[in-house]
Amino acid sequence: MLPGFHDSHVHLRAAAAARLSVDLSVAGSIPALLAILQTSVAEFNGRWIRGWGWDESALRERRAPTVAEIDAITNGHPCALHHRTGKVVLLNSTARRILAGAGDETAPTGELVRADDPSLLRMPRQREQSLESSLNALSRELAAMGLTSVTEASATNTWDDIAQYETWVNRGVIRQRVNALLAVDQVSAVARNRERTPSRGGVRVLGAKVAAPSDGIAECVRHARGFGWPVAVHATEPDELEAALVAIEASGPPAWGRDRIEHLGLPLPGQLERIKATGTAVTTNPAFLTERAPKYRELLSPVEQEWLYPVASVISHGIPMAGASDRPVTVATPLDTMSAAVYRRRRGSGTEPLGVRERITPDDALGLITDKDEVDGPSREGWNHRRASHSPWSRTADTVVLGDDPRRMLEQTQVMATFVGGCMMWRREK
Ligand SMILES: [Zn+2]
Repeated sequence: MLPGFHDSHVHLRAAAAARLSVDLSVAGSIPALLAILQTSVAEFNGRWIRGWGWDESALRERRAPTVAEIDAITNGHPCALHHRTGKVVLLNSTARRILAGAGDETAPTGELVRADDPSLLRMPRQREQSLESSLNALSRELAAMGLTSVTEASATNTWDDIAQYETWVNRGVIRQRVNALLAVDQVSAVARNRERTPSRGGVRVLGAKVAAPSDGIAECVRHARGFGWPVAVHATEPDELEAALVAIEASGPPAWGRDRIEHLGLPLPGQLERIKATGTAVTTNPAFLTERAPKYRELLSPVEQEWLYPVASVISHGIPMAGASDRPVTVATPLDTMSAAVYRRRRGSGTEPLGVRERITPDDALGLITDKDEVDGPSREGWNHRRASHSPWSRTADTVVLGDDPRRMLEQTQVMATFVGGCMMWRREK
């Protein structure tokens, strides 16, 4: 019996929407992807075909499918295929024609459109009802993984979105506790009449999400800090991290909360010391190492591979750290995250670990997924040290019951039951 698991960076709405889309993430080649798409054309009969999860680095051909290839099988249906990172959308000819409207200037200009392109707002939204039942099923799955709380980290979250999450939590559509980041451009509207940590009902807001190109990061951080807000900066690349650190160093500490770096994909020597010095926390995605290993081996030098998604050196610097799936980008369970942080390779794959020096102990790995206070991360004393302060026997506790001690790292450790606020949210049928 342990404190419930926490996922510190997820996209709930996107994950629920992905469940309603054709799942392209399993395709290993262009013909396989097209075959999956083709079988779903009849099912979408007349409606927009939405696909999710393609990734050129996971396809044998190492390229995106072409519009001609998609047109050939979609029979004139509008079709939009979302990239696995959520950053771009591939449109077929019919979709482009519909979104282009009558010569207006927000028409999509290419085959690949950025996910925040205004023309995409003209796509019919998934019906709220089906989105809600998908979200409910998703939340049940998360409970079955032992998750009692999540942080919704989308860079597009408005205050209204946060109100919507509050409603979903209150109505039991979402069973977990929800923390959220707010889009940085929303801070001025929200901050005006609030002095302290804002929260909306039960949804606690942790700071402003910044997902900008590296030359735009400074301005976003300055804007949030102008209202005293902490920031959570997306930084998978060294130049993004550098821009984030310079901006955080220049703005002084936030009035409340804690700054965070999301992902910390490839920090350079010296940057960890600066993260520590500014009191910034880190959320990491160990499952990227198992899911994207071929891509990393292909694109990165051996030295870069050693620096990739560091965990051990972040902990030894005393930087607070929490683990995350980045769902729907990966579908890692908390126990998968733990395993990826310990082994840094897919179990039983026989391949070399990525960055063998960044492996951590099972005790520290458990700390990545159990911390209740978001990014208070594994302390040097490991998980045993913190156990004393948290009693899972408390009536109001968030608790997970497992079939075995996860630190034994058995492959088949099962979640038996999950409790939020003392209420059973899920249990395994016998
Ligand atoms: Zn994300």
